[in-house]
Parts: sequence; structure tokens; C-alpha cells
Amino acid sequence: MKTKPQIIQRSLFEAEDVPGQAKLFDPPLSERPDPGKPKEGSGDQPSGLGPLGLDGIDDLELLRQTVLECRRCCLRQGARGVVFGEGNPNAEIMFVGEGPGQTEDELGRPFVGRAGQLLDLMLKSHGFSREETFIANIVKCRPPGNRLPTPQEVEACLPNLMAQIRIIRPKIIVTLGALASQTLIDPGLRVTRDRGKWFEKEGISYLVTFHPAAVLRDERNKKRLIWEDFRSLKQKYEQLYR
Ligand code: SF4
Repeated sequence: MKTKPQIIQRSLFEAEDVPGQAKLFDPPLSERPDPGKPKEGSGDQPSGLGPLGLDGIDDLELLRQTVLECRRCCLRQGARGVVFGEGNPNAEIMFVGEGPGQTEDELGRPFVGRAGQLLDLMLKSHGFSREETFIANIVKCRPPGNRLPTPQEVEACLPNLMAQIRIIRPKIIVTLGALASQTLIDPGLRVTRDRGKWFEKEGISYLVTFHPAAVLRDERNKKRLIWEDFRSLKQKYEQLYR
């Protein structure tokens, strides 16, 4: 066992449940072949990935350097840079949001605006620190105007996240908001209905909850619920490690 780990105009994060989006992710993107991998026998090389593709990378720092050069979709053109994600490379708990916002794009770090402060507070209040987890997003470059990423952009970027998950090997992934939940767990999932539920997939326990930015916009209805979800996270963690 690993050691215990130590708005704005927000169309992106408003989409707790995205009408019509679920069918766009059928089959689930996580079950589709890595579009960054050369097709067998084709001799193709994925653009911006170098000769190995992501499957040949087993080191998080090397993956980071590779993803920082990614130009696989047009989001990179409108962003200052790629926001890879950050945290403990051996994290037991991973948080996955939707995409970088303005502050994240400016600083090159995930969840550093007001939503990030709320996430930090919830972590600290439940005995975790940000540094012992790993925090990432479905898409690594800021969509213009913070719009929701298109399914094509999600599909283009997903191999980056799947490589992060493969290397970090978290036991728990908390999906923050609809896009992360539908992409990683089930395209038919609805956050308003399914938040607080646990799902088991390929040896990983997934917990669905709201995106912290959505909680900031609707504290009266969502704050208590996301705190319940973090209590559930703590209980699950203690079951696994104590
Ligand atoms: S959003 Fe993802 S796929 Fe698109 S350029 Fe950025 S890192 Fe590459």
C-alpha cells in the first residue's frame, strides 16, 4: 500500500448537468482508443506528442513536459498555456474538474481562484491538505470565455488525463461537476441527482460532487451538500487507510 498521503461569466462551470451532452459521450470517452496513439500499421505520429505517444510515458514529470507542448486541439491557441495539474505524484485522492478558468490560465495552476479557495477550505476542514492530493481538469487549456469544452476538445484532451491517472494510480477520484462526472464515470449521470454517490470502476472509487464554482453561485442549496460529500470522502478514505 502506498504511504498515507500526506464569475464571473462561467458558462463552463454552470453546466452541472449538460442537456444533450450525455449522448455525445456514448461510448464513454474513457473507453475509446487513445487518439494520440499511432494507429496500428499506419505509421502515423500524433501531432505534438513525440514519437512514443503517451502510453510510453511512465513518469509524471516527463508527462508534464510532454503535455505542456500539446497542440492537439484549438483550445491551446486561445490560452496562455497548458494547465497540467499539480499535487502529489503518489496521491491516493485525485480531484478532476472541467477546465482552467481565467486565474488558472494566468497562473498556470488548477483551482487557484475563488473555487480553488473553497476546495482548499473543504480539504483542510476534513483533515486533508491540497499538497497530498492531485488536482487536474478534463481539458488542460482554458476554453475562450470559459465556455464548455466541445466533445471534440474533451476527446482530444482525455488521453492527457488518462495518462495522469495511469501514472498516479489514485484509489479515489472525486469528479467535480457534470463534465468530469459524465466523462469519467457514466455519460448518463446527472450531478443534481447523483452527487454524493460512489461508483467503482477498474479498481478506482469515484465520488460525484458539485464543482466548487457552482457551490459559490448557489451556496444556499449546495454548500451543505458538498460538505456532506466531503464527509463521505473522509469516511471512505478512513475505511481504506485506517
Ligand atoms: S486542451 Fe488538451 S488537447 Fe487541447 S491543446 Fe490543450 S492540452 Fe492539448
